[in-house]
Amino acid sequence: MYGLTSADLDLQGRARAFTDELIGFELEAETHDGRLPDAVTKAHHERAIELGLHATNMPSSVGGRGCTALQQVLVQEQAGRVTNGIAWCCATPPSWWPDVANDHQRETWLLPTVRGELEECYAITEEGAGSDLSDVTATARRDADAYVLDGVKWHVTSFNEADYVFFQAVLTTGPHAGDQALFVLDKDTPGVRVVRTPAYTHTLGHAHPIVAFEGVRVPATHLVGGEGDGMTFVYEWFRFERLMVAARCLGAAERLVDEATAFARERTVGGLPLIERQLVQAMLADSLTELFAARSMTYETARSVDEGVDTKVLHARCSMVKLYASEMANRVADRALQIFGGRGYMRENVAERFFRELRVERIWEGASEVQRLIVADQLARRGRSALV
Ligand SMILES: Cc1cc2nc3c(=O)[nH]c(=O)nc-3n(C[C@H](O)[C@H](O)[C@H](O)COP(=O)(O)OP(=O)(O)OC[C@H]3O[C@@H](n4cnc5c(N)ncnc54)[C@H](O)[C@@H]3O)c2cc1C
Repeated sequence: MYGLTSADLDLQGRARAFTDELIGFELEAETHDGRLPDAVTKAHHERAIELGLHATNMPSSVGGRGCTALQQVLVQEQAGRVTNGIAWCCATPPSWWPDVANDHQRETWLLPTVRGELEECYAITEEGAGSDLSDVTATARRDADAYVLDGVKWHVTSFNEADYVFFQAVLTTGPHAGDQALFVLDKDTPGVRVVRTPAYTHTLGHAHPIVAFEGVRVPATHLVGGEGDGMTFVYEWFRFERLMVAARCLGAAERLVDEATAFARERTVGGLPLIERQLVQAMLADSLTELFAARSMTYETARSVDEGVDTKVLHARCSMVKLYASEMANRVADRALQIFGGRGYMRENVAERFFRELRVERIWEGASEVQRLIVADQLARRGRSALV
């Protein structure tokens, strides 16, 4: 099905078997603020590397798996079946970095990250700059052979687990003053401080603290690419992440359909199993149909990435699949919870956990409204036939 090659199927099978194991840890994570014992987390991380499920998006020139976009989707789809972020061990380091990393960045952070020895995080969003990154107010000032970074970043996912951080700022000096640039620095650089760690809807071991950067001095070698390149990286990252968000939403929806169907077979109400009640059948049928549509779109988009389709067209397609798959998965989670009834409202139930966890998929990497704007803009510029 879906024209997968034997190599695709082999990778998908490995990812599925591994994520089936990870599912067994969900309840422990849920009841311990999302955290598993360090030894368990370490073992998962090592196993993901051993199975070739880590750094699937990185080229072999830097030690990555060099998988096709479709293969990356297949792995992330399986990861999406697991709640509580346990499958984040199938990590995808920044795919745009090998092309622009200087020697210092390559040796210090990039290669160890691909080997699974270091973890990154991203400090881009601010209190007043999320959907529209042109509102970023963090600054980078050139001072001799260094830059001085200042700003307060919100929602810095995995800062508690990470070793280093990408920081986006507006340059205040030099010929590119006013442009944005991206920097990379170790988390323990003097001047980097956690302001607070808010609680979020989901239960993950990965926190999203607010982080202040106060007069943080970094050597000029910490500038990623050239001055003024910052937005380029963000757009490329968005395209990749939007496709992978869609992939994980497919996995979540598949698991929800499977679990709700199993429950509907077994649960009898008024002498009939729920699966024979037409209103429940409608919820399952709509969920399965939407999953099929989202999966077909996502695989097709991954193939268009592999075929080297024009970047602008890919930008629109990645927005379409992110929009559709994230909205679809939220509808499926809502229906699954409804089918489970009161059990579906218990945190020990997978539908309850996905109901909370999937909500952010409609917000991060660009809210659904922003995806619609991108798609409509590309439609107006290029016409329907260029996109679909
Ligand atoms: C759990 C979590 C983890 C995150 N992790 C990271 C991270 O690691 N690093 C990082 O840098 N950021 C991270 N983010 C930030 C995330 O990318 C932003 O929340 C997202 O881009 C939306 O920005 P915002 O929250 O400022 O919403 P706003 O920009 O304030 O938008 C609010 C709402 O307004 C609507 N809206 C926005 N723009 C438009 C428009 N043009 N037209 C119509 N409606 C619009 C949308 O409905 C949107 O949801 C994370 C967020 C969350 C919740």
